[in-house]
Amino acid sequence: MESDTFTEHDRLFIGGGWAAPHSTARVPVTSPMSERFIGSVPEADEEDVDTAVSAARAAFDDPGGWAHWEPARRAEALNRFAAALEARGGRTARQVTAQNGMPIVFSEPVEGRAPAFLLRHAAELITREPLERIRERADGTGSTLIRREPVGVVGAIAPWNFPQSLAAFKYASALAAGCTVVLKPSPETVLDSVLLADTAEEAGLPAGVMNIVFGGTEAGSALVRHPDVDKIGFTGSTAVGRLIAENCVRLLRPVTLELGGKSAAVLLDDADIEAVVNSPAFSAMTLFDSGQTCWASTRILAPRSRYEETVEAVASMMEGLVVGDPFDPGTQIGPMVSEKHRTRVEGYIAKGAGEGARLVTGGGRPRHLEKGWFVEPTLFADVDNRSTIAQEEIFGPVLCVIPYRDDTDAVRIANDSSYGLAGSVWTGDTDRAITVARRVRTGVFSVNGQRTDLGTPFGGEKNSGLGRELGTEGLASYQRLQSVFV
Ligand code: NAD
Repeated sequence: MESDTFTEHDRLFIGGGWAAPHSTARVPVTSPMSERFIGSVPEADEEDVDTAVSAARAAFDDPGGWAHWEPARRAEALNRFAAALEARGGRTARQVTAQNGMPIVFSEPVEGRAPAFLLRHAAELITREPLERIRERADGTGSTLIRREPVGVVGAIAPWNFPQSLAAFKYASALAAGCTVVLKPSPETVLDSVLLADTAEEAGLPAGVMNIVFGGTEAGSALVRHPDVDKIGFTGSTAVGRLIAENCVRLLRPVTLELGGKSAAVLLDDADIEAVVNSPAFSAMTLFDSGQTCWASTRILAPRSRYEETVEAVASMMEGLVVGDPFDPGTQIGPMVSEKHRTRVEGYIAKGAGEGARLVTGGGRPRHLEKGWFVEPTLFADVDNRSTIAQEEIFGPVLCVIPYRDDTDAVRIANDSSYGLAGSVWTGDTDRAITVARRVRTGVFSVNGQRTDLGTPFGGEKNSGLGRELGTEGLASYQRLQSVFV
């Protein structure tokens, strides 16, 4: 199944085509399933990033160029781009699975199809609202013209867990707004961006509007510090996000940060626990992409009166999950993205046991798999919410169940976190669910399942980030405002 995913590439995507890099270094990629080398691309250095930013700058500053096109013309180009992406969707999904081990049942919709949807939606948004509005002056003496312009050259930095869709969270809004983009994917997942670049080329985006540089910290950091970049859109860890924010503040450069999470799934006492826990929605909400998901509800809050029943139901659900080859359509849990990441996840499992939590199931490596960086779905009970495994993002198939007294106590525990990205509540009573949602301080929240709306703002509070992506609000973050006092 990995036959069409092997990629050896020797160029960077700059200025509308494939360009020879200055750097001679390479980014190698290894399959987390077979542990074999599956391809490589050039690793951009500071000079390559500079070339890409210059191309994006020239395209943005072109007086008749992309930024100055009528929104309808840009929308047409983005719809062409979307159609070309869609045509390659299956291959892209396989390429992502080959690199990060995401089960193919998830990568097909999330990595293969969502980016085209995001482009089409952004294209629709930019044509829906006028870019200039007249507003009555506050002192009642006439009117002011309020204009929206693209913010400029955007540096987009993506992580490995959803490489295509999280890149599209940024470039779809940025391109629709009229910005030009330099995208830097994560080194673990660079090969799918070769397909993305081919698609941008085929769709005929004007030269320099979309550029892709492969690389890691050096390339990312060069992009963040480049004087010709006007905005950074970043998804990744809180530690790197904070570093990027510090740089952006110093340069007074706008930045959107989508960072980590440690969300809570609140099971209310009226819930049919057996049915909830065994629903596909619950395993998706808690363990999506083998737990390598920022918004996953990894702290399960159970009513004290139904605690043991919840622990048993979750353990039995986790023991029934199909762990294995991510290319098998029946697989629910794949490997961790890298050996290093598996070691990190295993470190948390050891810490959980060491801090006194009760290991209910899992904790090791699946015995039926000889290769691949797998971790057994692992459940801890009797977890203190202040302990490390309840406070830090593990980013693997590791859940903990924490008891609460009443709804107020559940909200208190849900909010007792340095993160504030997401969360969920499970109940038959929608009013009660909304009351809980209103009191939890997170950027997104779900009632009875995982039904993310890609047309509404997405992002986090506290250590989970700054600003919002998607929807009109996400589009607005790639626009600057000008008030013209007439
Ligand atoms: P990471 O922070 O290590 O890397 C993210 C990206 O930043 C990569 O492209 C990396 O090369 C780049 N980078 C690293 N150092 C840099 C620097 N100094 N300057 C500029 N760029 C730099 O994160 P990761 O391990 O790739 O991804 C996992 C993390 O991402 C998790 O913490 C997860 O919660 C978070 N995440 C958040 C969201 C969200 O929407 N909130 C979504 C997915 C993942």
